[in-house]
Amino acid sequence: MFRPVVRYLNDPVLEKPAEAVTEFGTAELRQLVDDMFETMYESHGVGLAAPQVAISKRVAVIDVAGAEEDAKPEKIVLVNPKVIAKTGKQTGEEGCLSIPGFREPVTRAKVATVRAQDVEGQWFEVTGEDLLARAMLHEIDHLDGILFLNHLSALKRDLIKRKIRKMQKAGEWE
Ligand code: ZN
Repeated sequence: MFRPVVRYLNDPVLEKPAEAVTEFGTAELRQLVDDMFETMYESHGVGLAAPQVAISKRVAVIDVAGAEEDAKPEKIVLVNPKVIAKTGKQTGEEGCLSIPGFREPVTRAKVATVRAQDVEGQWFEVTGEDLLARAMLHEIDHLDGILFLNHLSALKRDLIKRKIRKMQKAGEWE
């Protein structure tokens, strides 16, 4: 089931740290993950974090292959993820389904290794490079209440915030 994506400044859930998942293998967690993939694919995103669908839990889904049309899905589910290693640097344009219409260059690690649990609670590690590293770091940021705007200069962030407030007032940000 598609779940509406929360927009930045419309709901404080995006800016607070999400809670750890403690119950695994439940119908509720499976449904959340299924819904998050459906919502992400329908919105043409490569990653989605639970706070973006108003659920303050440490769950993220990623499929960077989904960025290309007709690509085979490469679904990654991260429950309670932690970044355990980061190396190198990459700078590239980044967007967010919660901040549609705004894309800015963000510098992040080129390679990232993440330790996470699956829906059954099993721990695993995944190492990503380039887009996968960027997607994992972006989504894990969401679980800590951090948005890509926090990686921009204060000047640029305030400018975007002002534009969004204007759109909110005009009823163009829902
Ligand atoms: Zn995002």
